[in-house]
Formats: sequence, C-alpha cells, structure tokens
Amino acid sequence: MRYISTRGGMAPQAFSDILLGGLAPDGGLSIPEAYPHFGLDALTALSKLNYRDLAFAVISKFVDDIPAEDLKALIDKTYTPAVFCNGRSKAQTENITPLIKLDNTLFIQELSNGPTLAFKDMAMQLLGNLFEYVLDKRGEQVNIVGATSGDTGSAAEYAMRGKHGVRVFMLSPFGKMSPFQRAQMFSLQDENIFNLSVKGFFDACQDIVKAVNNDAEFKARYKIGAVNSINWGRIVAQVVYYFKGYFAAAKEVGEPVDFCVPSGNFGNICAGHIARQMGLPIRRLVVATNENDVLDEFFKTGGYHPRGLDRTYETSSPSMDISKASNLERFVFDLIGRDPAKLAQLWQAVEKQNGFDLSAEDFTKLHDVYGFRSDTSTHADRIANIREVFDKFGVQIDPHTADGYKAAKAHREVGVTMVIMETALPAKFESTMRDAIGTNPHRPASLAGLEQLPQRFDALEADTDVIKAYLREHIPV
Ligand SMILES: *Cc1c(COP(=O)(O)O)cnc(C)c1O
Repeated sequence: MRYISTRGGMAPQAFSDILLGGLAPDGGLSIPEAYPHFGLDALTALSKLNYRDLAFAVISKFVDDIPAEDLKALIDKTYTPAVFCNGRSKAQTENITPLIKLDNTLFIQELSNGPTLAFKDMAMQLLGNLFEYVLDKRGEQVNIVGATSGDTGSAAEYAMRGKHGVRVFMLSPFGKMSPFQRAQMFSLQDENIFNLSVKGFFDACQDIVKAVNNDAEFKARYKIGAVNSINWGRIVAQVVYYFKGYFAAAKEVGEPVDFCVPSGNFGNICAGHIARQMGLPIRRLVVATNENDVLDEFFKTGGYHPRGLDRTYETSSPSMDISKASNLERFVFDLIGRDPAKLAQLWQAVEKQNGFDLSAEDFTKLHDVYGFRSDTSTHADRIANIREVFDKFGVQIDPHTADGYKAAKAHREVGVTMVIMETALPAKFESTMRDAIGTNPHRPASLAGLEQLPQRFDALEADTDVIKAYLREHIPV
C-alpha cells in the first residue's frame, strides 16, 4: 500500500513515512493509491472478530512496512479494557466501542471511553504506540508542538506520555479552558509532557505554532512535528470502529445501516466514508454540525466557503467550532474522480478566493453515490435534545452527541438502522449538562477528584520568540 498526495505532487510513500509527516510537500493530504475492499464473505468473517483482531484485519490492509506481528502487538497493547475503561457498563468494556440501544433501530456507539473521554483517544492511543515504534526503529526523535483549546491537546498528551523519542509541547490559552480540561492536561507529571499556558486566546496559540513551523531551519534543527487531525494514522485507526459498530447494529451482514457523526474537521466522518468505500454496507453518512455550519452548507448546496474567524462562533459543542474542515479535501478528492489537478485548483480557490462550488454533476454524486446528508443545531436544540434523550431513554449524552442526535432524527427512515457516534462523554461538560438535566453528569470513577491533583505548567507570554526560547531550552540537540 502506497500513499500519494491529493494534489499530485508527492512520489508514492510507505505508511511509516507519511505517519510522522504532516501535510504532503505540495500542501495536499496523503491518501492511499486505492482503498482495500472486503466482499460479503470477508465481511461475514470480520463480523465475528473482537475489537483487537478486527483492528488488525482492517489496519494491516493499509500498512505493509511494519512486520505483521509487530503491528498486531501494537494494536493489542492499545485496544484493551484497561485503556478504554471509562464506559457506562463494566460488562461492555471488552467491546471497546459498545452500542447503547435507544430503540429498535436507533443506537449510540460509545467512542469516548478512553483516558480523555473523547473519541480522539480511539486513534491517538494507537498513534502514540506507532510513533514510539517507528522512532525507536529509526533512532529518531520528534517534538510535537501543538495548540489546543481542550480535546485535541489532552488526547495527544495522554497518548504520548512516557513514550520514548517523543516530547509534547502543548500551547493552551491561559485561563480559558474549563477547570476539568485544565486539570486533565496539567495534572500529567510525565517528563516528556510540557504544558505551555500562553497569555492570550487560542488563535494566538495557533499563530505561534504556525510561526514555529514556518521557520524551516528551526523546525529541522529541533525536529518539530505535529499530530493534528490531518494525520493519516488517525484516520485509518478510526475506520475500524465503523466496522465494529456496523456488525453490532446490523441484524445480518449486508443490511444497509446509516451513521450520524458530530463533525468539525471532518476526520471522524472521513473514516466512515473510507469504510464505505471498502465495502462496508453503510447507506447514509449524516454530517452533524453546530452553529459553525460550513459543512452543512457544503452538503446542502455544493458550495464550500470556509469562514473567517469573524464568522466562527464559540458554542456549547466547542470541539466542532471550526472555520474550515481540513479533512474534507480527502473526500472531495474521491468525489471528483481522484483528479489531483482538479483538486489542486479547487483548494487554490479555498486558499486564495472565497472557496468553490461543485459542478451540478458532482453535487448529485454527493448524495446519490456517496450517501451524504447533513443537519445543523443551535444551543437551544442541544439543551432540548440532551433533555429528551435523558427523559425518554434514561441516557446522558454530551452536547456534541446531542448535535448528532438531532441530525439522526432529521434523516432516519423507517426500517433502517441508524448509529449515532458518541464523540465525548457528558462528564466533560458539566455546566451545559446541568442546564439541560438539572444535575451534574455521571463522572467515571477513574476521574474522581481530578481537579484536586497537583498541576504542572509554565505560564508564558504570547510571543513566538518566547516560545522558541522555551523549546531551545527543553530540547537537547
Ligand atoms: C474533535 C471532536 C469532534 C469533531 O471531530 P472531527 O473529526 O474534527 O470532525 C466532535 N466532537 C468532539 C467531542 C470532538 O472532540
């Protein structure tokens, strides 16, 4: 399996080579030359596997430069009940991503039982083990520099803590994270984790990370890397749970099933699209957005017009507050017939103009061939739907999953099973949950007293030179 760039300007690479990189050299995203395919008999065989064996069966199709027994060991070490232990029911933890049944054809798939209570752990935990393995083999090191307003940073830190060859420098806005998020990140005492609390807003953190990456000499000397949502390793790890959820929800293999996914950077649902291309009988993929509805607009009109920061809103489903959806490029590459020249033209319009509008023919394919639908929510919808799911089914869902629930209701059809992806646990969003259901949400036992743990961070000025000096001081070369 070789990887190419969506924009056509990269010689084919092996999995381990693209794993540690970010954007392709031509500014595009890496993508397999072709997707592996499973027929009905192969799917039936997969349906009998536990999560770890299924993960190996799927992921090994994308990786041919790590010996099979090594890859198997990395996967087995990752997807254990000990790591994904924060689920609602102990009996279910062996499944890693169990389903909650709301009614006969409506399910929630638990993806958020990992250490940081968000679905990002599903991929990031494997990525930590893969990074360590590849870096050890090559005798290399990487220093991950990122900016976070919450979920991504903590998932990266929990995945990379204690791993050799890897350091994480995570910039977050001083005083702007929730007490829970702050405690989650700052309570880590691992020597390879550095929390940089920057006196400014999230945008300032992001700008500093960009500036550090734009200094090619600095970047090479200090071996600066990233684990953002465009990382291919994250996408491939996410493909697995669509198979797992499908087999658990379908009455028989072959029956069409719909999936609904709370979306921001389009990474989670992009994995669903890939699972569908691989032959998994997914009928519809429903994109759920919040007030930042650039994706809803795309799937309803065929126009992709990313917003400026002046039209990006802070909402009560904050991990979906995006101005552009980086992984959309991977899907559009497939949609337009994998034509890199055409893709490069479209993304030039994204970078230099006001985005693009699909041709009428491609717009039709969006729905008819690729099965996409979409919907959007407001804060009031979120509160009402959290309350509805609690009153009707006795289940607590978080504000992001509530956006998914609304979209699922809008698009479900009689007789077709629909699975809603649970992208975070309600424990992360206490104040919104209190507004909706009047009590604090259930908190997993492993996180009792989290806010009381000693915290470790450095408060720094929002200045690129200050951050660079900090990196020089903490990275031996
Ligand atoms: C990251 C995140 C999302 C958005 O996922 P994408 O892959 O960026 O589309 C949704 N919900 C939660 C809770 C998240 O952390």
